Amino acid sequence: MFVFTARFLHILVAALVSASLLVVPSVAHAQQRSVPIVRDAEIETLVADYANPILNAAGLSRSGIDIVLVNDHDFNAFVAGRRIFIHTGALLAAETPNEIIGVIAHEAGHIAGGHQHRLREQLARAKTMAIVATLLGIGAGVAGAANDMGGLASAGAGIAAGGTEAARRNLLGYQRTEEITADRSALTYLERTHQSGRGMLKTFERLAGNMALSGVNVDPYQISHPLPHERIANLQALVEESPYRDSKDPPELVLRHNLMRAKLAAYTAGPNAAARLFRNDPGGLPMRYADTISTYLRGSPRDALAKADQLVAAQPRNPYFHELRGDILVKANRPREGADAYAQAIRLSPAPSGLLQVGYGQALLATGEPDLVRKAASELQSGLSREPEFANGYRYLAQAYGRIGDIGAAELATAEENFHSGKYREARAFAARAQTKLKQGTPEWRRAQDIIEFREPGRD
Ligand SMILES: [Zn+2]
Repeated sequence: MFVFTARFLHILVAALVSASLLVVPSVAHAQQRSVPIVRDAEIETLVADYANPILNAAGLSRSGIDIVLVNDHDFNAFVAGRRIFIHTGALLAAETPNEIIGVIAHEAGHIAGGHQHRLREQLARAKTMAIVATLLGIGAGVAGAANDMGGLASAGAGIAAGGTEAARRNLLGYQRTEEITADRSALTYLERTHQSGRGMLKTFERLAGNMALSGVNVDPYQISHPLPHERIANLQALVEESPYRDSKDPPELVLRHNLMRAKLAAYTAGPNAAARLFRNDPGGLPMRYADTISTYLRGSPRDALAKADQLVAAQPRNPYFHELRGDILVKANRPREGADAYAQAIRLSPAPSGLLQVGYGQALLATGEPDLVRKAASELQSGLSREPEFANGYRYLAQAYGRIGDIGAAELATAEENFHSGKYREARAFAARAQTKLKQGTPEWRRAQDIIEFREPGRD
C-alpha cells in the first residue's frame, strides 16, 4: 500500500514586514492548503535503516524514528526531534544509499552541535504537518502550529509565511560556522559507522552546481545550508582523509535503494520516469518492480499479477513484493487471496508495521465475508494503534464497523479520519454523533470527548 495523503491546514498568510533578519509576521488572511505526504512501509523502513546507525554514532539514538516522506520533487531533508522529513525528490536524486546517509549525517551534526537549539526544540514539539508546511514554504505561520511554534519569533528566527525564500532562510538557515561544524561531525559519524563521506560530498557538489546553473529554481536544501566554494573544497580534503573513503554500500542495500527509487518513480513520476532512471539496467529487478507497479496502476490486473508473481519468484522473502501482489489481487477482485498475500508480507516484515496491517485489514474488508470483516476491524484497529495519525486507515475502519453494525464505533472512526485530516469541524460533528451511541465513560466515549473539546490553536 503506497498512499498519497493530504492534510488540510489553515494557513495564516503573513506579510513580510521587515527586510531585516527578524521577520515580523502580520496576518493578512487565512486560507486552506493541503500538504502532500506519502505513506509507504518499504520506503519508511529503508530510510530508518539509513538513519539509525548514524543517529547512534551521533549519540542521538532514540527508539522509533519517524520518517515523514514529503511528496515534492525539490531536494530537501530535515531532522526535527525524532522525525526525519525527506522529500521524495531527494530520494529519487540520490544514486546511492551513501548520498542520503551523508545528508542525514550532516543533519545529525547540526543537532548534536546544538545549532538553532531553541528553534529545533520548538520544531520537535510542533505538529508534523506544520513542519512540512514550513519546509515546502507554504507557510510557517500555520494556524495549527501557532501555539507550538509561537516562540519562533522571540527566538529571533522569525516566523514567516507566504512561501518566500527569505522566510525559509530565516527559519531554517544555518550560520557558515555551523555548516563547517556539521560537516566535520558528519564525517566523524560516517567514520564510526565505517562509511564513506563521498556520497555527502557528491550531493553537496551537485546542489552547488545546480545553484550556479539555475540561480532561480534553487532547491530548498541549499537555502538553509549555504554551499560556498571553500566549504566544498574543505569537505573534499576531509573526505579523502578518511580510511573509509573507498567503502561502498553493501550490495543488498544498493538493491533496496534502487527498488525504492523505482517505486517512487512509478507512483509519483509516471511510467517513463523509471525507464530513464534505470536505462542502464532495463532488465533488472528495480525496472521490473517499476513496470509491475505501472501495470497495476494503469494496465490490466491480470498482467500486473503475472509480473508480481515473477518478482516474488525472484525474491520470495521480500515482504513488499507480497504487499504489491496483495494490492493487485484486491484490485483484481480477489480480496481473499489479496489478504493472504498481505498476511505473508506481515510475516516477512522485519518489524511490526501498522501500514501493512491496515493494508491487510483493507483486503479482509473487501471480502465482505462476516467473519473476515470482523477480523478486518481488529486488524485495522491494531494497525492504527501503531499509526494513530494515518487518516486513510480510519475510513476502512469506519466501513468495517458499519458492516458489523457497530455504528457508534463507525462514527468515532469517521471522526478520527476527519480529525487526522485537519477537518476539525467535521470531526467534532461525528464525535458528537458517536457519543450518542457509545456508553458514557468508556475509552471510546472519552476519545470522542477529546475530539469534541479539541481546539485548533489559533482558531475558534
Ligand atoms: Zn547544514
